[in-house]
Parts: sequence; C-alpha cells; structure tokens
Amino acid sequence: MFAPLDHITWMRRAIVEADLARGRTGDNPWVGCVVVDEAGVLLGQGHTQGPGEDHAEMAAFRQADQRGLSLAGATLYSTLEPCSFHGRTPACSRVIVDRKIRRVITGMRDPNPPRLPSPRARHPPARGLGLDAPVTLALPRATVPLEEK
Ligand SMILES: [Zn+2]
Repeated sequence: MFAPLDHITWMRRAIVEADLARGRTGDNPWVGCVVVDEAGVLLGQGHTQGPGEDHAEMAAFRQADQRGLSLAGATLYSTLEPCSFHGRTPACSRVIVDRKIRRVITGMRDPNPPRLPSPRARHPPARGLGLDAPVTLALPRATVPLEEK
C-alpha cells in the first residue's frame, strides 16, 4: 500500500498508465492519470483515448464512477497539466473542480497554448476554487507526453 502523499510513487503509476496510450491517441498527447483518496486508496486510473474521446482524467473518473466511489477530497495525479479549455471534449479542469477534487499533482505544465477562436471558450484555471495550489513535479524527459519523434 502506498502512503497517501507519496507523490513520486503515484506519479510513476500515472506514467505507467500514460504508456498504455503511447501511439494510440492521434493528435492528443498521451497522458496517464490516477486519482487517490486521502487514505491513499486508488479510486480510478486511466489514460487518454482517441481524438474526441476521453482524456486521461475523464477515463480515471469513469473508473471511479463504475466502482461507485466518490472523488470529493481526492488527489489527482496527471502526467500532463489538465486542459483548461473546451475543445473536442469539455475542459478537464472544469470537471475536476465540479467533482470536488482537492489537489492536483501534474508531471509537467502544458507546453501547448490552446488554439481557440475566442477567449470565451477558455475556463479560468482551476485555482481559488477549493483546490490546493497545483503542484508540478519535474518528470524525466523520457516520460514527457509529447509527439513521438
Ligand atoms: Zn483534458
């Protein structure tokens, strides 16, 4: 069993999830996500699906929902900063707030600014809404979920 705040251990698990998506996400980055409760119990895990389908966060939430588990107060680990704009799918940051996730730990900031027709399409960052300040861990370069070279 993992300690509840063992960020590195949980992020490693998210990286393993991300690896399941590698090369299978079209133009989406390959991302993994795990959601853990305050006692250090895994609630759900998932990885990015194809274009227009679930992002990793939503895949993890779906698994928790299927198990009938609440996400309130949970900690979310994602290898990439959750998206904050509504593109082909709703903004994950919005859903994270709505689902009452308390803490977000990311492997890296999103390096790609959203290409959007209007700033109104953006949601405010998931800050000041009951979330702890986001924490970004420095991932080894080989795990960064950018396009394959
Ligand atoms: Zn997203």
